[in-house]
Amino acid sequence: MPTCAALIVAAGRGSRFGGSLPKQYAPLRGENVLRRTLRAFASHPGVQRVVVAIHPDDQAIFNATAAGLPKVSSVHGGAQRQDSVRLGLEALAAEAPDLVLIHDGARPMISAALIDRVIAGLSGADGILPAVPVIDTLKRVDGDRIGETVPRENLVRAQTPQGFRFPAILAAHRALAGESLTDDAAVLERAGKTVKIVRGDEANIKVTTMDDLARLEGTLGETRIGQGFDVHKFGHGDGVWLCGLKVAHTQGLVGHSDADVALHAATDAILGAIGAGDIGQHFPPSDPKWKGAASHQFLRHAYDLLLARGGSLTHLDFTIICERPKVGPHRAAMVASVAKILGLEEGRISVKATTTEGLGFTGRQEGIAAQAVATVRV
Ligand code: MG
Repeated sequence: MPTCAALIVAAGRGSRFGGSLPKQYAPLRGENVLRRTLRAFASHPGVQRVVVAIHPDDQAIFNATAAGLPKVSSVHGGAQRQDSVRLGLEALAAEAPDLVLIHDGARPMISAALIDRVIAGLSGADGILPAVPVIDTLKRVDGDRIGETVPRENLVRAQTPQGFRFPAILAAHRALAGESLTDDAAVLERAGKTVKIVRGDEANIKVTTMDDLARLEGTLGETRIGQGFDVHKFGHGDGVWLCGLKVAHTQGLVGHSDADVALHAATDAILGAIGAGDIGQHFPPSDPKWKGAASHQFLRHAYDLLLARGGSLTHLDFTIICERPKVGPHRAAMVASVAKILGLEEGRISVKATTTEGLGFTGRQEGIAAQAVATVRV
């Protein structure tokens, strides 16, 4: 087995990205883009070492990004991408691995299978480039005018990781120091060596804009649905709490907390979607701490658990079941109240109500029942 190092290029400032952080440090479902990239290489059995070329200003955020990952260390990059790669290769020169895989830090969707293909390809070449076909018709333009149609036969789109025999790419980078070629395959080509291609991966996109990041977020994770149900009975009082709102009524609801039956159902719905138990486990009625507690904190706690898992709430749908009080006049305010508790757009919250046609305990006006369904992405 040849020894193999990965060199991750993450020193750029990402001028096209427009966020407050360089794109490689932008959050992506619970971790940042670069950490996801690093995990792919650090966990690959064929890669013994991962060196990351970073911007000197990013040392602190890099340390936090790489915390706990095996095999990973950093080196300060240079002004241009090519400088950063050369400095990273120099950092590996002492141990001189047989192979090096040079990869963009902003390509977090790199798969173990593609890493395998690049390593395997290097048994028959000095350089390997993963390539994907050009599918769209290509046009050369002059301002807003079409100049010509470029034949796309024999054209491919180059991805990373580009793999190299280490001595060959180190020598080529040393010889071409100070130039600014677009990728490392071009550096090796200029040194007169042959670069071959292997099949790339359409999923292995480079995050360049906020739109790329948003698209990527949409493809990650899975949709889950959790449901919650709760009942509280009527007792003395002058109103009931529903969805974090006090609604005037001739009675109150009895409960250890403020008895907000709707928020309790929603709390259980979110906990259910992430398999995190139920509201009684998190906030035991036996604990005097929660006596008379405002239930928005229960919902917020469940939501924070979801966020901590890198999840997001797509939609939260309530059904409040009672004869009285009438929910309709308060529906919009309830939606606004829940949206405010969660810091989400009102469009993600739905409040509906129904009676049970006078039947059962809700029909006899002994209490209020509530159901909630949470759709989450985790
Ligand atoms: Mg309850």
